[in-house]
Amino acid sequence: MHYFNYKNGELYCEEVPIKKIAQEVGTPFYLYSAKTFTRHFKAFQNAFSEIKHIICFAIKANSNLAVLSLLASLGSGADIVSKGELFRAIKAGINPKKVVYSGVGKREDEIRYALENDILMFNVESLSELKAIEKQAKLLDKKAPISFRVNPDVDPKTHPYISTGLKKNKFGLSRKEAIKAYDLAANMENVEVVGIDCHIGSQITEIPPFIEALERLLDLLKTLEDKGHKIKYIDIGGGLGIKYHDEAPPEPDEYASEILKKLKDLPYTLIIEPGRAIAGNAGILVTKLLYIKDTEEKRFYIVDAGMNDLARPSLYKAYHEIIPVLEKKEDKKEILADVVGPICETGDFLARERSMPLLEEGELLAVMSAGAYGFTMSSNYNSRPRVAEVMVSGDQFQIVRERETLQDLISKESLFNL
Ligand SMILES: *Cc1c(COP(=O)(O)O)cnc(C)c1O
Repeated sequence: MHYFNYKNGELYCEEVPIKKIAQEVGTPFYLYSAKTFTRHFKAFQNAFSEIKHIICFAIKANSNLAVLSLLASLGSGADIVSKGELFRAIKAGINPKKVVYSGVGKREDEIRYALENDILMFNVESLSELKAIEKQAKLLDKKAPISFRVNPDVDPKTHPYISTGLKKNKFGLSRKEAIKAYDLAANMENVEVVGIDCHIGSQITEIPPFIEALERLLDLLKTLEDKGHKIKYIDIGGGLGIKYHDEAPPEPDEYASEILKKLKDLPYTLIIEPGRAIAGNAGILVTKLLYIKDTEEKRFYIVDAGMNDLARPSLYKAYHEIIPVLEKKEDKKEILADVVGPICETGDFLARERSMPLLEEGELLAVMSAGAYGFTMSSNYNSRPRVAEVMVSGDQFQIVRERETLQDLISKESLFNL
């Protein structure tokens, strides 16, 4: 569910016509709906209300301060994967006591920064990392709260680049390694074991892989408790998928009810780390059709947003629905077209072989479901300033990140002068 809908023949975000924003801000730009973010966050909150839980929004999905501060106001915590994301979380008013730190490659300075800010826990992915955390905690005379990320070896049946819970992936520890790691950590003076964690992948559109992973986690948990380890938090990661095209992912309450069946009589605090399911359909990318180019092979719609602005189609062959901001009459003809950007790469496309309406040069298009892994994955490739981000609430809008300027492109650089 989202609040991007046609009214009187044109696309609105909540109560604001998108054309009006484009006139003021220029194109391309990311457009977010505060009401949609709120709705999605509350869907998770309500779905898990039966048990103690913390929703740790995965900041890598959308790290804009306005988004984070909105979620903070609703009570969100954060799943971070870098020092930069912790910095953003704190600036946005997210309580560090609701922050979990994931990722296989935490640097010393990042670990220190997280310790200084008293986060809830580190999701530790290797013994070497455990030792690095112990060392920094000792230097700061602190006790580092940790959980181990367990690799449950389940197939989430999603794109290979976003599968993370298979044995062959770089993430987490096997059951056997995890038991060793818990024993080791229990004897470390500056480390406190508080949780167990997994995250099996992203854009998962069915419930069984989540339950399978949870069962393996609970089974391991029992072994650990029999050995005397005390575990308070059980973190099942994120990964719930969204509808981009014809997927039919479970709603948060269906997902939750299956999980609650396993957890509701147990004493743990549940942590979930949704990113895409909260942000994905809360944002779109608005772009302008620059040129129509008909070759002998096919039609190209050349737009002013490229793979540097939205990487997902090029990176994962991801599908994003693309619709005109001015609604077309249903009886208007459709044509097969590639929607491509201005970047000098053949991989620069937003859609391929897509049935599209007949459009006119200069028209605005909405690339749907772009609120997660959209702006955060964007770059300056081809020296293109990163686009603006705009948030709508009701009948108002706010520019929440200004479009970068040409000067921004070079502001950290210098001419060669040795
Ligand atoms: C990316 C990631 C998430 C969020 O995944 P979504 O599919 O966006 O929900 C959560 N936890 C970890 C550890 C991640 O790497």
